[in-house]
Amino acid sequence: MHRILAGISFSVSTTMAAMFVASRFPGMEIPFPYWIFGFCTPLCISTPVCIIMNRQAEQKRRLNDKLRAALVELRQLAEVDQMTGLLNRATFLRRLQEEQDRQPGTCLLIDVDHFKAINDGYGHAMGDRVLKAIADSLRATIRSDDLCGRLGGEEFAIYLRNMPSTQATAMAERVRQAIEMLDIAAADGTHIRPTISVGAAHADGGASAGASADQLLQRADMAMYAAKANGRNQVRLAA
Ligand code: GH3
Ligand code: MG
Ligand code: MG
Repeated sequence: MHRILAGISFSVSTTMAAMFVASRFPGMEIPFPYWIFGFCTPLCISTPVCIIMNRQAEQKRRLNDKLRAALVELRQLAEVDQMTGLLNRATFLRRLQEEQDRQPGTCLLIDVDHFKAINDGYGHAMGDRVLKAIADSLRATIRSDDLCGRLGGEEFAIYLRNMPSTQATAMAERVRQAIEMLDIAAADGTHIRPTISVGAAHADGGASAGASADQLLQRADMAMYAAKANGRNQVRLAA
């Protein structure tokens, strides 16, 4: 409203000022009715113009807000795994590289044990429910600023920022125990108790260390396979 009033007053006052200056010249006296005309004309023209322009500016602002919100949502959709709400593979790898360049930390690679048997025994939808429960448990166990992603299928990864191997191994053990505690009731009355195998690999951090996120994941992957080979449901630290 104040913008409309400002526009109208500007239009009226500039007209009146121009008339005033003109009336100062000899022989240019302006009779009183013209002053009224000079006041009313810009008032009548600028009022609807200012209202329309203000409405258009308001619409543009609202559209911009909507566009900004849609962009935020789109970016989130592009970065997040839709089923679990964790980071998707591409985003996790990109953020892992950034974090690793910045500071040391430990990467945990997590694979659900005998997940195919859960799918085969209870169906794909139940398998999805188990994956969601595992994702929720991972999120609840780690710190809120740690990276956590679903790399694909029944494979997850975590990057514990600034955490040395010993502490990270203890954290990985807490993650493993939290999953072991899950008890998911199936429709037939039986209970699903998933377990995970975890491979941990430490990165010294800093771009000068020169290690890539792929190499770090590869080391964690090898440790995870050692955990599988050793009987599953356990944590192994990469050499
Ligand atoms: P291991 O202990 O050696 O890891 O055995 P596994 O059965 O967990 O591993 P395997 O690679 O044989 O099977 C993984 C299964 O995960 C096979 C695939 O159908 C299933 N899977 C992959 N993505 C999804 C998904 O999004 N939802 C569900 N329900 N199943 C999935
Ligand atoms: Mg797997
Ligand atoms: Mg598996």
